[in-house]
Amino acid sequence: MKPYAPGEQPPPGKFIKLNTNENPYPPPPEVVSAITAAASGPLNRYPDPMATSFRRAAAEALGLPGPEWVLAGNGSDEILTILVRGFVGEGQSLRLPYPSYILYRTLADIQGASWEQVPFEEGWQLPAAFGQSRDDLRLVLLPNPNSPSGTIVPSQQIKQVADSLDCPLVVDEAYVDFADENCLDLVAENENVLVTRTLSKSYGLAGMRFGFLVAQPQVVAELAKIKDSYNCDTISIAAATAAMHSQDWLAEKVAAMNQTRQRMAGELAKMGFDVVPSHANFVWCTHPTGQHKAIYEYLKASQILIRYMEFPEWGDGLRISVGTDEQIDACLLMIQRFLDQSE
Ligand code: PMP
Repeated sequence: MKPYAPGEQPPPGKFIKLNTNENPYPPPPEVVSAITAAASGPLNRYPDPMATSFRRAAAEALGLPGPEWVLAGNGSDEILTILVRGFVGEGQSLRLPYPSYILYRTLADIQGASWEQVPFEEGWQLPAAFGQSRDDLRLVLLPNPNSPSGTIVPSQQIKQVADSLDCPLVVDEAYVDFADENCLDLVAENENVLVTRTLSKSYGLAGMRFGFLVAQPQVVAELAKIKDSYNCDTISIAAATAAMHSQDWLAEKVAAMNQTRQRMAGELAKMGFDVVPSHANFVWCTHPTGQHKAIYEYLKASQILIRYMEFPEWGDGLRISVGTDEQIDACLLMIQRFLDQSE
């Protein structure tokens, strides 16, 4: 099997880091206080296996009927692992769109299961084939907003996909706080709609590792049987609980990052890039010169890290995470310099 290769994580401080869609801003001060308080608590004791305080805070923040609709995990990658472990086995398959989050394929491989990639149509539209049921199909995964494109499939269309499938549909909403719509309402309507979220992006807690699932209580109860007993630690649970209580901070930071994204997209377009309209904290862009790898390397030599991505049989391009305005200015300047030199 092919391992999943995460983005480069150099030691802090050396690079302007725009390669793994983290939040350029530190987490809310209440989160830092909660971490300090938890660190002076009884760390000789195991954590709450179900992260009850977090589930309550998440249910309240998201307007869910109750905490039993939430399952906490060590990053949303762990939630995805639990889902694939729970639903997909040997001789069965999962489906994902292409290009999207390649980790899903690795999770299928670990299970000895197969995977089916359904290519996006022109303009990142989801084809009808994505909602077709198949005998061996056990799980369908859709990142929404998608990575690397930042595009969204409207929730109305997702509802149709879920209704036409015979198996659960996971809507991976890692980037949804940067978008205008989400699929939480669909969860109550259809027990086969499962939504995953993360605190790594909009909440600025990638280093903490915390994600969660929103699903109907009977689904959460079944999946809880196959998670590790203590999958979230005491300090992370305290931090994540405080983060869910920081909705004003979230709204402020999301607005700032979305504004920076719009400006970055406009400037890249002026330099001749084709920039896909994004609903996430990154943009996907391609340049008519096709010199994507060379741009990535030029920036890296200037201590600016962006993501060069190559998708076999589809093409390559650059994914640039939203940073602070200063970081984006530095990035844009070096891209302009590269283009000037290569003329
Ligand atoms: N889903 C998508 C689409 C992602 O891009 C990422 C980030 N790599 C994740 C899930 C995982 O996020 P985390 O494990 O940090 O919660």
